[in-house]
Amino acid sequence: MAHKIAVIGGDGIGPEVVAEALKVVRAAGVELETTDFDLGGARYLADGTVLPDDVLDELRAFDAILLGAVGTPEVPPGVIERGLLLKMRFALDQFVNQRPFLLPEKDIDFIVIRENTEGTYAGEGGFLRKGTPQEIATQGSVNTRHGVERVVRYAFELAQSRPRKHLTLVHKTNVLTFSGDLWQRTFDDVAAEFPDVTTAYNHVDAACIYFVQDPQRYDVIVTDNLFGDILTDLGGAVSGGIGFASSGNLDPTRQAPSMFEPVHGSAPDIAGQAKANPIAAILSAALMLDLLGEGDAAERIRKACASATDLTASTPEIGDAVVAAL
Ligand code: ATP
Repeated sequence: MAHKIAVIGGDGIGPEVVAEALKVVRAAGVELETTDFDLGGARYLADGTVLPDDVLDELRAFDAILLGAVGTPEVPPGVIERGLLLKMRFALDQFVNQRPFLLPEKDIDFIVIRENTEGTYAGEGGFLRKGTPQEIATQGSVNTRHGVERVVRYAFELAQSRPRKHLTLVHKTNVLTFSGDLWQRTFDDVAAEFPDVTTAYNHVDAACIYFVQDPQRYDVIVTDNLFGDILTDLGGAVSGGIGFASSGNLDPTRQAPSMFEPVHGSAPDIAGQAKANPIAAILSAALMLDLLGEGDAAERIRKACASATDLTASTPEIGDAVVAAL
């Protein structure tokens, strides 16, 4: 049976890299039935549409969503990020953000699990006396036991499935004494259910140093929304660059579709020139296949990507090289 995939190519290089990802998945023998959704910065500029509720309801019927990149320089910051990406993440309750980092030649092989629906990104806060010299802006961090526990348990299960069985909690418990305390206690409680998983704790600032100097120490990391956002960009920078960084926004309960996207943006500076590296999008599609129960194809695609490293080639040529290596 073909998997039903909603495809949001988006803006800039988004459609270019998604085309290669779909080409590779089909070449790996996985049957897909795709439906294109015209969403993103260009659509917003054309008719003001971001992500209407009826489109969101349509998306629920799919097995997964594959997204290229959304956003154009002409759209004010926040419109697409909050109105499309965050709205989808919250509405579909994609509470896990999973980002793998793999660079075999340097022995780097770790996965960051970022809490995806709470923390400082939950939208708590507001303005008082906006636009006046006395204005105040607050942006609180929301941390629920339910939200923290479900993402921590997912991270333990993932760590348990990997050869090293090691999980590191990253936070700032020495300064963020309320949210940090909730995270640490939840982590310790769930750890008791996974006696075969070894654990560690790093403050986020120390983790930044280890990411650069000793990323080999990590197997699986679990952290909150804001720390995870920043750490995963650093992870991309130390493990091959933005052209290789893939991600999944997961609802592991599978009540709603998960969404897979490369970490990079729409890169308007190189759009339309076939200069984009499609590997991040292809690896994101591989993550999608893991969730769809196509783990063998996913693994073959990851291996093929590792051998297709001529990045002087054009976007479709890199896609073709991955297909040839399958
Ligand atoms: P966003 O806020 O959406 O992440 P951004 O402009 O900050 O957008 P990107 O769009 O990721 O970030 O672009 C950052 C830089 O990385 C640009 O110079 C872009 O050309 C480059 N870049 C991003 N993705 C790729 C890719 N797949 N292949 C090659 N270069 C890329």
